[in-house]
Amino acid sequence: MTTATPIPMVDLREQYLTLKQDIDAAVADVLSKTQFIMGPNVRSFESEVAQYLGVKHAIGCANGTDALHLALRALDIGPGDEVITTPFTFIATAEAIAYVGATPVFVDIDPVTYNLDAALTEQAITPNTRAIIPVHIFGLPCDMTAIQSVSEKHNLFVVEDCAQSFGSDVGGNKTGAIGDVGCHSFFPSKNLGCFGDGGMLTTNNDELAQKLRVLGAHGSTKQYHHTVIGYNSRLDEMQAAILRQKLPHIDNYNQRRLQVATAYCEKLSALDIQLPLLKAPESQGGAIPVFHQFTFLSDKRDELKQALSDQQIASAVYYPIPLHQQTALTERMPQGASCPHAESVAKRCLSLPIYPEMPDQHIDRVCNTIKAVLG
Ligand SMILES: *Cc1c(COP(=O)(O)O)cnc(C)c1O
Repeated sequence: MTTATPIPMVDLREQYLTLKQDIDAAVADVLSKTQFIMGPNVRSFESEVAQYLGVKHAIGCANGTDALHLALRALDIGPGDEVITTPFTFIATAEAIAYVGATPVFVDIDPVTYNLDAALTEQAITPNTRAIIPVHIFGLPCDMTAIQSVSEKHNLFVVEDCAQSFGSDVGGNKTGAIGDVGCHSFFPSKNLGCFGDGGMLTTNNDELAQKLRVLGAHGSTKQYHHTVIGYNSRLDEMQAAILRQKLPHIDNYNQRRLQVATAYCEKLSALDIQLPLLKAPESQGGAIPVFHQFTFLSDKRDELKQALSDQQIASAVYYPIPLHQQTALTERMPQGASCPHAESVAKRCLSLPIYPEMPDQHIDRVCNTIKAVLG
């Protein structure tokens, strides 16, 4: 053991302190106005996000999981329908498919980008397929040109899971502004995080935007007039006020994440590990990732995790069990799934601390600890 300062996965307090005056004033203003539900900050934040992402509509909701659920409901996806997605993601992606009674179809990932393999996606399409949910995992945008072309050819909807990719862009378009609808999360540790739960839906489709608003507001177009069974899924006014203070800094935050990732890659380049890409392959859009996580692969993953922990350094396994092997989902997958790449990545992946305020000395300590094991 060591008495060295602990290095966390993220340091939310540091980020708060840099904006403390602005955030405290914004929160105090909400408290004094007491318009806690659907207040002016929610509306303003929605237009600011729409403008930032270059998309026509942005609709706040309670969290990223609800965003995915509402998107599938608004697209009328339900029992008997199949939705293709990646097995290498957080459970919420597949939960949304299960909530609407549809069948998740897991397609294997590209072992280098960790994202849905677009070619395999096309092979998994059946007459029941209605939608594809690409997840821009760890902040690296998927090959959206290939996914859009598959979806157009087969007349499928594309629901982007942008929970880990806020602010990233592919060829001049931001993730969440490419598919039919984008689903965003403002969970505290996400690239743009609030101080509780929060989410957002983005779309260029007027009709879909209207449906999403109605579904998130108890299915009402007019107060106490309910046309469909909806949900109580709103972005909180207090969270919107906090997010409005952070949004102007998101490009700086993402830039700094990229710098940390670049430093990791340089310092770890000589080791026998598979480092994450600092840029998507040109053939897959060449996007620059926003490094929600810095995740590498090693056969000595567990040994490394222990060595880091001995030095008070946090690390995490995102994700240890691919979704096609999760008990909660296997019964919903009549035909099973073969995803050898996802299984292999899940056994070897390790995510290192990364956050915009991470000091350079921390990066050095993490790398030296890894080198001591593998060097
Ligand atoms: C965080 C996350 C979600 C869910 O977002 P919440 O706001 O926590 O509900 C969905 N998909 C992915 C890939 C995530 O990382």
